[in-house]
Amino acid sequence: MAGPPITPAAAAPAGAPLTIRMHERDNVAIVANDGGLGAGTVLPSGLVLRDRVPQGHKVALHDIAPGAPVLRYGIPIGHALAPIKAGRWVHERLLKMPQARVLDGLPLATSRHEAAPPLPGYTFEGYRNADGSVGTRNILAITTTVQCVAGVVEFAVQRIKAELLPRYPNVDDVVGLEHGYGCGVAIDAPGAEIPIRTLRNISLNPNFGGEVMVVSLGCEKLQPARLLPPGSFAIADARGGGASSPQALDVVCLQDEGHVGFMSMIDAVMATAQRHLERLNARVRETVPASALVVGVQCGGSDAFSGVTANPAVGFCTDLLVRAGASVMFSETTEVRDAIDQLTARAATPEVAQALVREMAWYDAYLQRGGVDRSANTTPGNKQGGLSNIVEKAMGSIVKSGSAPISGVLAPGEKLESKGLTFAATPASDFICGTLQLAAGMTLHVFTTGRGTPYGLAAVPVIKVATRSALARRWHDLMDVNAGTIADGCATIEDVGWELFHLMLDVASGRKRTWAEHWKLHNALVLFNPAPVT
Ligand code: CA
Repeated sequence: MAGPPITPAAAAPAGAPLTIRMHERDNVAIVANDGGLGAGTVLPSGLVLRDRVPQGHKVALHDIAPGAPVLRYGIPIGHALAPIKAGRWVHERLLKMPQARVLDGLPLATSRHEAAPPLPGYTFEGYRNADGSVGTRNILAITTTVQCVAGVVEFAVQRIKAELLPRYPNVDDVVGLEHGYGCGVAIDAPGAEIPIRTLRNISLNPNFGGEVMVVSLGCEKLQPARLLPPGSFAIADARGGGASSPQALDVVCLQDEGHVGFMSMIDAVMATAQRHLERLNARVRETVPASALVVGVQCGGSDAFSGVTANPAVGFCTDLLVRAGASVMFSETTEVRDAIDQLTARAATPEVAQALVREMAWYDAYLQRGGVDRSANTTPGNKQGGLSNIVEKAMGSIVKSGSAPISGVLAPGEKLESKGLTFAATPASDFICGTLQLAAGMTLHVFTTGRGTPYGLAAVPVIKVATRSALARRWHDLMDVNAGTIADGCATIEDVGWELFHLMLDVASGRKRTWAEHWKLHNALVLFNPAPVT
């Protein structure tokens, strides 16, 4: 596992050539300077650049023979396809990507974990639910069983916001849980349980206070009772001091013969919403320990700085959260696949390690069925940002998970039931990962980006962390934290990790709003459906 960069930029004079190497074994370093460095530039080590090297891209620190490993984060991210002279730009066309590690014979729970000291005393102001979970926002969610009803629900949501919400000042928002699933799908196929349980568990997210209401069309495959069978949900009696009791599912069915005309449907949705708004409005924030937080971390639009600045700062913060007793999830299976040996070694128990292997094997088979492998992950933007391949991207991605033992593993769409660090298996797709982390019970999202994305979710606050100062400056009203200060030499990984930790408690408490909340930037929920459509 990579630690802090071993050649930090501290105290470099403005404009001086700046490179960052992650591990003492590395034979490449990345160029940190805005705009990159020109051929002929002399590095502080005396090395002369033979090519222009763009910002975030790698320069060879030594001559590398054909077939020899190119090492970053102390591991081979590829093997040289041709002789690479010291000072040359090491781009993806010079590298042969290593094979994925086979899943046999991995180290299982072999890392010795020194117990990190607990971090007591930190709290936030949250909404306590009857089941013991704690929300960071107080939102009415309207679950939908099928895409067919989306237009009607959106119409109703706009009316609810305009006409009802002002009467319930303690409720933050009303959200229609729109998705593309529910009909036209092979609902009994293996794998269909993933989108179904995802939607079920999102409806039960702590930010929705247990106030489940459903809008159904009537003829769809995903019937309300299949989505939320009796016993799978409980209505929180917010005024009753935390008691909960199973009740009938609150469903508005558009095909009911009682509905004559469109306005009859809208009136029914609004009347149902009002009952739930009244109960939600009775909720008040109370002081709860930081251990009640459920944080999901992910990255999107990554560049070579992701693994140098933002992700290590998030990893430091992840360790703080675990020490505070909170729940933290990391995800994005294709972006941890190449580090599976590090993760199985870090597992708290052999059973957790086996569960990690199970999720990797499931995803390998899923990709294989589609005729691709993990290398399908990287984007043109990743490569332009200096990431040669998925191996290099993965090494930078897993540092978000910090250094705590991995104490749990979730299959896609499952609900988190434990504290500590959990691997929640998801695709790396930003929207699908966010959707699955919501299903797991995430109440706060941390998202790092190097290329830049305005990503946001309606159901939880999303704190966005920029990997470079240039991005943080350009997107000054979209990025919440600038981890580029680490590469600039103005802050340490620990500084930014603590900044993020304190910001998380403020945002969770509603004392601060993220930029995505400020602008109401909300991406769609995207269900992961590995099963066929019909
Ligand atoms: Ca992602």
